[in-house]
Amino acid sequence: MAAERLAVVGGGIVGLATARALQKRLNRPVVVLEAETKVASHQTGHNSGVIHSGLYYKPGSLKANLCAEGREAMFSFCREHGIEAPRCGKLVVATSGEEVSRLAELEARGRANGLAGVKRIGPEEMRAIEPAVGGIAALHVPETGKTDFIKVSEAMAADIRAGGGEVRTSARFMRAKVESGGVAIETTAGRVDAHLLVNCAGLQCDRVARRCGVSPPIRIVPFRGEYWRLAGPGASLVRHMIYPVPDPRFPFLGVHFLRHLDGEVTVGPNAILGLARHGYRRFSLSLRDAFSIALFPGFWRLALRHPATGVREFLRSLSRRATARAVRRLVPAVRAADLSYHGCGIRAQAVFPDGRLADDFVIEEGERMVHVLNAPSPGATASLAIGRHIAEIAAKRLP
Ligand SMILES: Cc1cc2nc3c(=O)[nH]c(=O)nc-3n(C[C@H](O)[C@H](O)[C@H](O)COP(=O)(O)OP(=O)(O)OC[C@H]3O[C@@H](n4cnc5c(N)ncnc54)[C@H](O)[C@@H]3O)c2cc1C
Repeated sequence: MAAERLAVVGGGIVGLATARALQKRLNRPVVVLEAETKVASHQTGHNSGVIHSGLYYKPGSLKANLCAEGREAMFSFCREHGIEAPRCGKLVVATSGEEVSRLAELEARGRANGLAGVKRIGPEEMRAIEPAVGGIAALHVPETGKTDFIKVSEAMAADIRAGGGEVRTSARFMRAKVESGGVAIETTAGRVDAHLLVNCAGLQCDRVARRCGVSPPIRIVPFRGEYWRLAGPGASLVRHMIYPVPDPRFPFLGVHFLRHLDGEVTVGPNAILGLARHGYRRFSLSLRDAFSIALFPGFWRLALRHPATGVREFLRSLSRRATARAVRRLVPAVRAADLSYHGCGIRAQAVFPDGRLADDFVIEEGERMVHVLNAPSPGATASLAIGRHIAEIAAKRLP
């Protein structure tokens, strides 16, 4: 067994941040095993690029704590590595009386999560920040920022290599077994022996766990998040970020407007059941992934609980007009003609067998292993803190 080596499965931002933290904290060589030909090929390379403030999460949860720590670590990392990351702030916009009262709850939650700058504002102040915004009240969250998480991941990979570690692409994890004081890992690029394995395989994390002999308490259900591009006169309607007030029943539904670092404006992401964990075309289908969903009772319990929402999101995704109608409550001047389909990301959403969505990050420890089983948004923002957290676990577990 190769002494001292630590292996991380998955070269997304969570895997890379974890490998970097393990290397620094434990001063041992690391190897990242990534199935694709380059890092950040899945969730990390297909997201909104928002450095989240941590406004929404239950105080004291892993999400709230690691997002707050990770946000500041991400701004520092970007500064140190010359990666653009403006702290541009965002508006969370209420469009009804009921949403205004939820805004008050959100403000309290933001303060409990340490966001000192959060402020409730009225229409005049809202229009001073975003001249085209609709709605009747908003929360201004100055702590929010944006960046390019692909560049961040590449910089993390460079740090790992500079510290003597390896990032092996085209090395797909096949299976692993605990044996004689370590873990024997089989990959498509040969065998790797390690003292500890950390599973950060994102959309495949439940399968990787099973192939390590672990029975994960959740199943990954892929949810596509589609984006529309706002072009023509519509592109000048948004300066930074405009978000709706989230519905507490569907924490990941929140189609927002975002001006990216390159000036492009997108509207999205929605949330539609995906029939392929890694299929980015509009009607991608993997029989294996579709069967895995169909045979999972948790999915049917989830679907039966919210049938109307699922159907509405799907129908809206097929129609530019329906999408424009839905987002006009945030920015009334949006015209359907200015919207064009832009692409999608696929969320690895962990679902319990009883149909509940895993809300918090889920990190499970096993013999010589740590499995990250739910790291959805704000996982990219929180990645450096997740890495630090896992390195602490590893430091306690390793001899
Ligand atoms: C549409 C969308 C929008 C989002 N917006 C934001 C946002 O604005 N801000 C934010 O903070 N977060 C956002 N997120 C969440 C964020 O993208 C994720 O939390 C984060 O990227 C998770 O990183 P990861 O490394 O766990 O997963 P991934 O980036 O998916 O990486 C997992 C890696 O594991 C590899 N892998 C899988 N199986 C194997 C195997 N058998 N062997 C080897 N490698 C394997 C994959 O190829 C992949 O590279 C968004 C997510 C989506 C989908």
